[in-house]
Amino acid sequence: MKQRNALHYRRHPVSKLTAALLALILLLPAGTTVWAGEASSTWGSASAGPSAPAPSAAATPAQSSAAKYGESGAKPKVAIIIDDFGNNMRGSEEMFKLPVKITVAVMPFLPTSVQDARRAHELGFDVLVHLPMEPRQGKPEWLGPGAVLTQMSDAEVRQRVEAALDQVPYAVGINNHMGSKVTGDERVMSIILAVCKERGLFFVDSHTNYRSIAGATARRFGLPPVENHIFLDDVHNSGHVLKQMRLVKDHALEQNYCITIGHVGIQGKETAAGIRSGVAELKESIEFVGITELVKTRWKWSPRLTLP
Ligand SMILES: [Zn+2]
Repeated sequence: MKQRNALHYRRHPVSKLTAALLALILLLPAGTTVWAGEASSTWGSASAGPSAPAPSAAATPAQSSAAKYGESGAKPKVAIIIDDFGNNMRGSEEMFKLPVKITVAVMPFLPTSVQDARRAHELGFDVLVHLPMEPRQGKPEWLGPGAVLTQMSDAEVRQRVEAALDQVPYAVGINNHMGSKVTGDERVMSIILAVCKERGLFFVDSHTNYRSIAGATARRFGLPPVENHIFLDDVHNSGHVLKQMRLVKDHALEQNYCITIGHVGIQGKETAAGIRSGVAELKESIEFVGITELVKTRWKWSPRLTLP
């Protein structure tokens, strides 16, 4: 299914205009540190790496879904990650009211970063730090506060990652905001993943770079190579989001799991509406789970977070 999967990968839908608008919105005072995360890793490297069970890419969709997974009765798992929380963005409320468990990716040091993370946690949703990371194209100032850049020293990168994790409560991992340059930079990714490993967290590659080395580097660290499969809202209307949700279903039936990303922001309400329609259509055949449960099931990974 390589060719088909290739079609699913789209560039991160932050256009120049969107990024410029985001940059304007982001130029706001930083929040304050209210929590320092402590965690210890229980993720062993034994089930990581190339020896981990491979998805059944060779089987046809019908065979794999019916023969392999139908008998056990377990539905394929889908994790919906919603990016760009933290600045009271349009659609945030609609996302919080979705009828299934989602994963809320919160940008650090913004006016509602802490509030959004707390709200997500109270609703039983998983939280990720949505870490701004340098893209190959575009200006660094579009990224927002606390961004990781490739020109930084090892110590500066580590300080940025730790500060972001300390600022956003309840985070179980990190995913990248933009970041097409950083996810191709082994030195910088190694530092980010080292911090993840120290804190018992995982990294979700948003997959804004076809040549990302994030997954391979994660395996080297004994971390699960988690990555986005399908962007839901690369075209901004609810009809397109619903179509993407159907692709998510196809992927999940073939591989037994799927990770997908949508966004709050200018078209956040439309994205939420499309997800809501998709969930209603898919819920009989798909189980919607937080990213932690999916990572735990797929890679036998288990975090031990010490919460405040
Ligand atoms: Zn983002």
